[in-house]
Amino acid sequence: MYDVIVVGAGPAGSAAARYCATLGLRALIVEEHASVGYPVQCAGLLSTNAFSECNVSEDSVVQVVRGATLHSSEGCELHFDAGRTKAYVVDRGALDREMAENAVSAGADIMLKTYAYDIRDNVLYTKGVDGHREIPFRLLIAADGPRSPIRGIRGMKPPLRFYSGVQADVPYEMAADVVHLYPDASPDFFAYAIPAGEGRVRVGLAGGADVQSRFSSFVRTFSDSCLHQVTGTIPMGVMPRTYGARTLFVGDAAGFAKPTSGGGVYTGVRSSRHAADVAAVCCEEDRFDDFSLSSYESLWSKDFGKELEFGYHFLQMRTNIAAKDINDICRALNTPEIKQMIVEYGDMDRPKELVLRLLKNPTFFRVARTVAKAELRGLLFGGRR
Ligand SMILES: Cc1cc2nc3c(=O)[nH]c(=O)nc-3n(C[C@H](O)[C@H](O)[C@H](O)COP(=O)(O)OP(=O)(O)OC[C@H]3O[C@@H](n4cnc5c(N)ncnc54)[C@H](O)[C@@H]3O)c2cc1C
Repeated sequence: MYDVIVVGAGPAGSAAARYCATLGLRALIVEEHASVGYPVQCAGLLSTNAFSECNVSEDSVVQVVRGATLHSSEGCELHFDAGRTKAYVVDRGALDREMAENAVSAGADIMLKTYAYDIRDNVLYTKGVDGHREIPFRLLIAADGPRSPIRGIRGMKPPLRFYSGVQADVPYEMAADVVHLYPDASPDFFAYAIPAGEGRVRVGLAGGADVQSRFSSFVRTFSDSCLHQVTGTIPMGVMPRTYGARTLFVGDAAGFAKPTSGGGVYTGVRSSRHAADVAAVCCEEDRFDDFSLSSYESLWSKDFGKELEFGYHFLQMRTNIAAKDINDICRALNTPEIKQMIVEYGDMDRPKELVLRLLKNPTFFRVARTVAKAELRGLLFGGRR
């Protein structure tokens, strides 16, 4: 019998299995695809912290990022250069495969091309390359992505909402170490252009509506030829309860993508570390009741819960910010002191401190107050939505 079965071999699942195996648990990963890491549904932009959380070599890195430029459709550009590496652009397929290999090296088993479709009496039912299997477990970790079939099987409530993302690698020449952000191209979120090495740029856009048509217009400003297009789902707002019935939900399955950027690798891997710690205690004490599992929620909440709450308020506010406001904000922030502040306090994974500091800028504060008074209260004083 396995101590822990992890469903899904994305970054969160492989990290969970690796941590569990390292803590001495018998762990198995079940992954529906024949190859880990495909299809890729990610821009591959990871902060240096997120990348080091993944605990991999630099083999998957295709580009180093040192700066960013925010473009308003009314012509303002806010550029900053950190002068040092702030993020990496990675090949997500290669990253995911190395993370899965590390889990196996740590002692976890893996079953590929195996789909988990039911759970009865602490037994996971799968079908796949080995036919039908019934695999007993003591604890389940659901790392099965934003649409999480395990969430449905367990009857758990989903994340608060879902955005869609579309991106393509296109041939285009631009500075190799700068990412570009275009909020007006997707009025409830943003679009991006990320250098992807070898004369290619990863052009993408996410949002809550009209995503394909917004993307089609946006990508044409770079190129008419898409080398490779991917689509994906981004959960926004953590599911109301991330544990229950011998199951812990990690990564996108729990809705841990950051509402400020859509990025979910950092929080996904962090959540897996907490899930493994709780799994080890539960297995040691042979207690799997909801009360014992609830310490998982305390751990991730203490780690990054406030950032996600803050991000969700920010997302609500973002929906009300018009192109003219973006232009005003862009101009107001375009001073050497503020750009220095962005370089100093900017943290893709923990943006709260920077945004609170920026709100001290009168124009940024005025726009925030005008467009979303209630959300501003949430941003400043917190509170789960
Ligand atoms: C367009 C786009 C761009 C993005 N860009 C970034 C970015 O630049 N940086 C960043 O940090 N994040 C980004 N994200 C988000 C990031 O991709 C996710 O947050 C991350 O992949 C979540 O990891 P995960 O391990 O939780 O889930 P996933 O990576 O989704 O892995 C889930 C795994 O579970 C498997 N699975 C599902 N159901 C079953 C089942 N029943 N049985 C067996 N296996 C199953 C799936 O095949 C999959 O391999 C982006 C997302 C999109 C859509």
